[in-house]
Amino acid sequence: MVTAFNLIYSVSAIRRLLGLAVGVSIRIQKFFYVIWVHVAGRRPTFISKSAFKAHFVEHRKAAAKALTVTKSVFQGHIYSVRNESKGTAYQINIGSGQPICSCDDFNNQIQFLNGLACCKHAYAVLGHLGYGSLREYLAR
Ligand SMILES: [Zn+2]
Repeated sequence: MVTAFNLIYSVSAIRRLLGLAVGVSIRIQKFFYVIWVHVAGRRPTFISKSAFKAHFVEHRKAAAKALTVTKSVFQGHIYSVRNESKGTAYQINIGSGQPICSCDDFNNQIQFLNGLACCKHAYAVLGHLGYGSLREYLAR
């Protein structure tokens, strides 16, 4: 189950940040500025919350590069974002000024991150439009 905490401070993020294999036991504890991480068989370590937040964005931006963006012929504010290898597709609507997606990640972010969200599909559209970040797009 996704929570406000594990949306950003997830075991998957720790695996990617530390280059760990799937299946390695990881324990996490939250402190004010850092996350205490104990990987089975290693000494416990700390990872800053800012490192998790940077990874949260960079991971989605990197995943966006593999997606195919197509603008709707009939509605200029609608984009189709396809993952050719998985055979999935999501529609991104930029009509309200902020990109809106229907995927689980986007909805989790809206729920837990104060109404601001940008999933890999939205980053794919922003990249297609020539923007490097959500902040840059919102400030246009
Ligand atoms: Zn999405």
